[in-house]
Amino acid sequence: MENEINNITFSNGVTIPQLGLGVFKMKDEKELMEAIRVALEVGYRHFDTAMIYENEATLGRALKASSIPREVLFLTSKVWNYDHGYEETKAAFQASLDRLGTDYLDLYLIHWASANYIETWKAMEELYTAGKIKAIGVSNFQIHHLEDLMAHTEIIPMINQIETHPAFPQDELRAFMAQHAIIHEAWGPLGQGKNDLLTQPVLLELAEKYGKTAAQIVLRWHIERGIVVIPKSVTPSRIRENRDIFDFSLSTVDMDKIATLNTGARYSGHPDDQEFLTRTSIRPS
Ligand code: NAD
Repeated sequence: MENEINNITFSNGVTIPQLGLGVFKMKDEKELMEAIRVALEVGYRHFDTAMIYENEATLGRALKASSIPREVLFLTSKVWNYDHGYEETKAAFQASLDRLGTDYLDLYLIHWASANYIETWKAMEELYTAGKIKAIGVSNFQIHHLEDLMAHTEIIPMINQIETHPAFPQDELRAFMAQHAIIHEAWGPLGQGKNDLLTQPVLLELAEKYGKTAAQIVLRWHIERGIVVIPKSVTPSRIRENRDIFDFSLSTVDMDKIATLNTGARYSGHPDDQEFLTRTSIRPS
């Protein structure tokens, strides 16, 4: 089996590499530059950042330092909660472009469904129609947010980036998204290193069986489900390990074994946590 990174196609025909590098919490410039260098070397072309990660400029510099042409890279950024609104989103988008040192994004997402996301989406629709963004989507949207957005705007989001891992597989939201051709993207695909997910006996047993690590088994489980994954690591050996998941596949029986890890409990923030949404919608002075 080859080990090429697979592509997934959005409803508008644009493709996204099914594996990318998430750069949340990567703030140390030297560490981030080196992580990007290693990632590019082993074949990553897709990078997931956000204004709030405060590393768009460093990511932009790291990508420029390589000889890889912009058109083969896939760059995602996100509009933060205090930048919601029509004019605010346009300004936030331009600021992200400037920091990244590019004149378009491959994917722009609404980071969380905080107040005024409809006006935010309308600005994104315009930027998309003008060719400044190749695909537009959302993150942390529940079914009720998606229904509301679809009822009040023109373009159906092409992707929804949501917490997803074997302990929280998001089956209900996932089924709704499939009905509307909304691609499923997982954040925290490895469970963010929390709750001993990667030492669960089922995963260790499968790791042994396939000659892979538990992290690779989990990432492959996402790949088999057609999910886009953006595991985060600054450790070169792990960046390589997480990339090495396209040369094997899991049997249906083994996928079913992983499904037994479903607890229905999130490891991280709830999309309807109003206190969080309100607090983070206030622009710092
Ligand atoms: P993750 O599941 O990718 O876990 C990252 C952690 O897992 C690392 O810090 C490391 O401790 C561990 N890890 C990585 N590779 C490993 C390996 N091979 N073996 C063992 N441990 C390993 O969690 P994440 O960083 O929260 O999510 C990934 C990306 O998703 C982020 O970097 C960010 O781009 C995005 N994200 C988006 C949102 C959102 O609200 N949209 C929220 C969180 C993260």
